Amino acid sequence: MDFNIPEEIKMIQATIKKFVEKDLEPIARKVEEEGEIPEEIVQKMRDLGLFGIPIPEEYGGLGLNTFGEVLIYEELSKTNACFRSRIGTSNGIGSMGIYMDGTEEQKQKYLPRIASGEWSAAFALTEPEAGSDAANIKTIAELKGDHWIINGKKHFITNADCAHVFTTMVLTDKEKGSRGGISAFIIEKGMPGFSLGTVEKKMGIRGSHTAELIFDNCMVPKENIIGGDPMIGHGFKTAMRVLDKGRLTMGASALGAAERLLEMSVFYAKERVQFGKPIGEFQMIQAMLADMATEIYASRQILYHAACLRDQGKKITREASMVKLYCTEMACRVVDKALQIHGGMGYMKDLPIEMYYRDLRLYRIFEGTSEIQRMLIARDLLRN
Ligand SMILES: Cc1cc2nc3c(=O)[nH]c(=O)nc-3n(C[C@H](O)[C@H](O)[C@H](O)COP(=O)(O)OP(=O)(O)OC[C@H]3O[C@@H](n4cnc5c(N)ncnc54)[C@H](O)[C@@H]3O)c2cc1C
Repeated sequence: MDFNIPEEIKMIQATIKKFVEKDLEPIARKVEEEGEIPEEIVQKMRDLGLFGIPIPEEYGGLGLNTFGEVLIYEELSKTNACFRSRIGTSNGIGSMGIYMDGTEEQKQKYLPRIASGEWSAAFALTEPEAGSDAANIKTIAELKGDHWIINGKKHFITNADCAHVFTTMVLTDKEKGSRGGISAFIIEKGMPGFSLGTVEKKMGIRGSHTAELIFDNCMVPKENIIGGDPMIGHGFKTAMRVLDKGRLTMGASALGAAERLLEMSVFYAKERVQFGKPIGEFQMIQAMLADMATEIYASRQILYHAACLRDQGKKITREASMVKLYCTEMACRVVDKALQIHGGMGYMKDLPIEMYYRDLRLYRIFEGTSEIQRMLIARDLLRN
């Protein structure tokens, strides 16, 4: 497979690299401590067009294909993970349902605003009783005249506090459940009966917020089902297709972070002297560096390969799960070794390694845990 990177993508990569080094990295620790991304940084993200990375050009986005998109997220992930989360949640899982399955009217109404960064988007599937078992959602809608009346609760929803648009999975036929009874709604901030609940306190990625969503007789116009009436009951399929693609961008995020950790570890191994020589001269340190580099190389290959397959129009459900599983588990092994190589310094907040250690741990949980990825891969193997 041809992994030649087109010139225009190389230019965007170089711009992102500069943005990360000049604007994001200097404030990465401050954002972690204060739990907020400064508005001027969000504005720079808008100016660079980052909120529209995969959104088609006709709706104001950059229109990058999957390969281009994963390359950009790989670069953007060499700093505090919350910056990637702020962007990727909105133009990825938050709005992808609309540009994949939405009506033309819905695309015209929402995508230009999301692509410009004027509006942010979030993806709401998880509920207290429905995490890995996503088909078990209880949030339910009843059609009354021209409106759906929605009742229920979502939790752990990323970007909930800054989003204007929520791609929300809701039961429209309790009997059918995930087999034709779940629909994807576009819920707007401010719709009657829709409110934010608790903002959850997390172990890491503190600059990105997750919260509960409360639907208390929330009134949503009939036309707000993604894809309109013909798509009533097709929401679970939309959600799964969104997650297939999301799993590749998660892989890219894990890869970018791992690359940064390897770079830091090589640098430290050359600089830190013990027993009269740089620790990089000790074979046990060299073995850790070699294992990190090898796993990163393997991750990059499967990620790029799956992204290119998707761009060729191939179904990549199994590959997406493999990428999500391998890259996120790899990044956790890499950060553990990076911390070990840095010794006591790795445990201190003076260096960002402890932050990566906490942040990367999440990647094995959200958008489908490692166990669920293994289950999906095995199911596909046994079925086919
Ligand atoms: C910070 C954060 C942000 C999130 N953002 C979003 C978001 O924006 N939108 C959204 O919809 N959701 C979001 N989530 C939810 C996330 O996708 C779920 O947390 C995840 O899918 C796991 O669900 P759960 O937490 O309920 O764990 P559970 O499903 O309760 O799982 C608990 C454990 O049991 C294991 N397990 C469950 N079923 C099986 C099985 N069949 N076989 C083997 N093991 C199994 C799991 O792997 C896990 O180890 C977010 C979560 C977090 C923590």
